[in-house]
Amino acid sequence: MNRLKALLGADRPVLFDGGMGTLLQDSGLEDGVPGELWNLENPEAVRAAHAAYATAGAQVLTTNSFGGTRPRLDLHGLGGRVGDVNREAAQIARSVADEHGVLVAGDLGPTGELLAPLGTLTGEEAQALFAEQLTALLAGGIDLVLVETLSDLGEADAALAAAREVAPDLPVVVTMSFDTNLRTMMGVRPGDAVVHLAAGGADAVGANCGRGPAEMELIAAEMAQARTGDVLLITQSNAGLPQVVGDHFEYDATADDMASHATRLAELGIDLVGGCCGSTPAHVAAMRATLNPA
Ligand SMILES: [Zn+2]
Repeated sequence: MNRLKALLGADRPVLFDGGMGTLLQDSGLEDGVPGELWNLENPEAVRAAHAAYATAGAQVLTTNSFGGTRPRLDLHGLGGRVGDVNREAAQIARSVADEHGVLVAGDLGPTGELLAPLGTLTGEEAQALFAEQLTALLAGGIDLVLVETLSDLGEADAALAAAREVAPDLPVVVTMSFDTNLRTMMGVRPGDAVVHLAAGGADAVGANCGRGPAEMELIAAEMAQARTGDVLLITQSNAGLPQVVGDHFEYDATADDMASHATRLAELGIDLVGGCCGSTPAHVAAMRATLNPA
């Protein structure tokens, strides 16, 4: 039984939210400061970002915890605060979601360490890192688990094992970034990811981040071909590619571009649709409008 289907009901596609890191940067988060620190030091800004996405029509809010595993927080001297950072991330999203009657996805990003044989991290160690983060997210109150931007199926397996260990009743969504000639950095193809991760117990499998809507639609078509059993498919594309404008980056896909993208994804049978880097509440509102015309 697909746990996510039971949670979401029958309407498709379900709309997720858009980017968080890029949105916080627009709110004044400085270069080099991890966005997750704002769960502790500027929770009002995180709350405002969630509220903007909920108001735009997102049905699932993603916790601000992408870089919340211990090795990633260690880079900023915050390795001892995994519990605080992630519990707060979930509590902030939970409070906004409850006001709007929407769901919370607890976000796990890559550990930032390479697994053996390319690196030194073992699968068991990766599982323990994800389990530590997920335990804190659970304590803050989440409805589903979202593991995203992975490149390595071994790391995805470790995250799935952590979810089975810590949150066996919650649906798990796993997305990979196919940003290298329609494969992940490690060479994984979209169809192979769907087959492997569905067999590993993911309730939804898909793609996020990447090189913009056009490539995402090619990836979505490959995933749709490979769909097995009752696994759901998800995409969360970046809003195009970043372009240097003055002293900062701007992503080149407009809200209208993302809205037509959402329509094409729906036609391909993608069940869950959202945005990644550079997508804003305006993009999500346009996607909402086109997915549910009045
Ligand atoms: Zn991204």
